[in-house]
Amino acid sequence: MLLLAQQILKQYFGYQSFRIGQQQVIDNVLNGKDTLCVMPTGGGKSLCYQVPALCMEGTTLVISPLISLMKDQVDLLHSNGISAAYINSSLTYSEINQTMLDVKNGTIKLLYIAPERLEHNEFRAELSQLNIPLVAIDEAHCISQWGHDFRPSYRKVSSLLSLWAKKPTVIALTATATPTVSQDICSLLHINSNDSFITGFSRDNLSFKVLIGENRDQYIKKYVQSNLNEVGIIYATTRKSVEAVYELLLKNGVGVAKYHGGMGEEERTREQNRFLQDEVQVMVATNAFGMGINKTNVRFVLHYQMPRNMESYYQEAGRAGRDGLPSECILLYSSSDEQTQRFLIDQAQDRSRIPLELEKLQRMVDYCHTENCLQSYIIEYFGETNTTECGQCSNCIDERPKMDVTEDAQKVLSCVVRMGQKFGKTITAQVLAGSRNKKMESFRQLSTFGILKAMSAKDIANFIEFLISERVLLVQPGQFPTIYVSDEGKDVLMGKRKVWRRTKVEITTIRNDDP
Ligand code: ADP
Repeated sequence: MLLLAQQILKQYFGYQSFRIGQQQVIDNVLNGKDTLCVMPTGGGKSLCYQVPALCMEGTTLVISPLISLMKDQVDLLHSNGISAAYINSSLTYSEINQTMLDVKNGTIKLLYIAPERLEHNEFRAELSQLNIPLVAIDEAHCISQWGHDFRPSYRKVSSLLSLWAKKPTVIALTATATPTVSQDICSLLHINSNDSFITGFSRDNLSFKVLIGENRDQYIKKYVQSNLNEVGIIYATTRKSVEAVYELLLKNGVGVAKYHGGMGEEERTREQNRFLQDEVQVMVATNAFGMGINKTNVRFVLHYQMPRNMESYYQEAGRAGRDGLPSECILLYSSSDEQTQRFLIDQAQDRSRIPLELEKLQRMVDYCHTENCLQSYIIEYFGETNTTECGQCSNCIDERPKMDVTEDAQKVLSCVVRMGQKFGKTITAQVLAGSRNKKMESFRQLSTFGILKAMSAKDIANFIEFLISERVLLVQPGQFPTIYVSDEGKDVLMGKRKVWRRTKVEITTIRNDDP
């Protein structure tokens, strides 16, 4: 069977061999085992169900979350000479009927649908008459409430599938699953833990960088202009900032396209195509852009602002370097980004998800403040252990010496304790800085008031963020998040543990002609 899979790989896709992970996953699926495939963006997940689909008799059903994603996949399959189709709300009633006829006649090898469609009894009844050997659930993290993109209709897929007379093999695929999300997917779809394949999350050709407090506009302008032969994506959080960055680059003579949810579909498609066909150098977009985009030569992904969680960040940053060539992923952070994301999270319809979203946001903020290897941070977030330093991220190549900041850390921690561990980082920073702010009245008598007054409140706030990323301080999420001392922090207070931090080095140039 695997031989047939290899033949299909060459014949239809023009590739010589499977990548790491692909072969095991395909083998497992072809042996009829329900399978979970977690592979980084660009890892080659599509082939993991497309090749088995071509090896099997009948039509493979693919559950996909987005209309644009379905269309892209189907177009790509057509260009490889594979018969595929989709059914979604963009089709007319008669087009849907025609597609179903084609499926019944056995001329369609892969049929893409949205999960909601499975909830139509009539449609399900029609499907149950067909020969469906395999169901592929793409973007399977949408199944899990612990994921970053939960879709209730995804969760229903498993129970709907169990109503099928002849149970098809199921393959669930995702790029972004923490261990909790993977376990959730497996338990819902009854996938055996031996049948979950988690390919290394590290993408060795990507170098990560976090820049705090840069002038973002200046940086982006300079970066794009000094990489004129390279293609890249700039992600911004809001439509308004997409428009602003787009205008900025346009004004500076950069070939640029834009993409966000506020634009009409026609305009979005036009802009997307300009980017895909290399007519422009840069795409400026919100997170609405990118799913299913198969552009391999993206050399940089810049984040104009911090996204809401690590899953989104890695998914978006991972669109760089799909061809395996060295590429950069740069995040421009400012503390106001956290407020923006907090505000957006607070708009959520489903209030029960807010605590989880806030926790995820905190891990994203920690990423921006850690001084450890960024690549390791990411892949540990996704549950890998025994990581080694990448040697190329902005932290790994940072040559500033590490200083022992235990004493300053103790001052912060004891201040937090004295304030009753029920205030946020901004107020704490102001207390430590000895601010004249009126709100400080009730804190003036604390022995830690003004104890770090040599530093500005802003620098202290950054230091607090750093201590959070080191997990000596923890955040109690909520509308007004508060900080408290962790067990590791207590060890610091008791002198059992040291804290090291890179410090700015002042370089004084001594000129020979100085008097
Ligand atoms: P994912 O869905 O995991 O993000 P894709 O399935 O879109 O990734 O694959 C990413 C790119 O890698 C595509 O251009 C695809 O054609 C290519 N690719 C996938 N498998 C192989 C392979 N075995 N050999 C060479 N290229 C491959």
